[in-house]
Amino acid sequence: MARYTGPKCKLCRREGTKLLLKGDRCYSERCAIEKRNYPPGERGRGRFSKRSGYRVQLREKQKLRRMYQVLEAQFRNYFKKAARMKGITGENLLRLLECRLDNLVYRMGFAPSRATARQLVLHNHFEVNGRRVNRPSYQVSAGDRVAVREKSTNLLVIDESLKSYGSRGTVPYISVDVNKKEGVLAEIPTRDIMPVPIEENLIVELYSK
Ligand code: SF4
Repeated sequence: MARYTGPKCKLCRREGTKLLLKGDRCYSERCAIEKRNYPPGERGRGRFSKRSGYRVQLREKQKLRRMYQVLEAQFRNYFKKAARMKGITGENLLRLLECRLDNLVYRMGFAPSRATARQLVLHNHFEVNGRRVNRPSYQVSAGDRVAVREKSTNLLVIDESLKSYGSRGTVPYISVDVNKKEGVLAEIPTRDIMPVPIEENLIVELYSK
């Protein structure tokens, strides 16, 4: 599937927030948001001032979509699915994104960013409940065990990433065994424990027009 391949830091600057797209760099002073927190382009500094309701909703949607590295059409499908599910649509949407396999590989510390996690999944380095899965969008269920496949346990990128597991922040709905290189999604998270700095109600408003 197609994906965005342009400069990642520009996306963060456009949204005015850290989307954490570049691994360890995002947690260092080399992060572009730390140095230039205004939109890219010649008139970038003036852009944040003009924010209509629609524009705010649109930016919130783009922020979430880019955070999880999902393309527009796929994002819309997630929204439709979230709207059909029981419960609050915005929360359902976040859950669907959060339970993607590539996101959980990132959250479990096996990759320094969601982009790297996606690549690792695509290249057959992970299994779910003992079965190889190479689809980044695969929905992981509560109780599922995500593990580095035996043939991939010596991959440097995974080892390096696991060294800083914890320093990038952990979530309570995942347990990780760093030595075994595996983790379990203990429960489907509720909104209050998902560390996603998004006002999802704005996205629901946007798509409800
Ligand atoms: Fe975004 Fe990371 Fe670049 Fe900072 S370093 S602007 S968080 S992608």
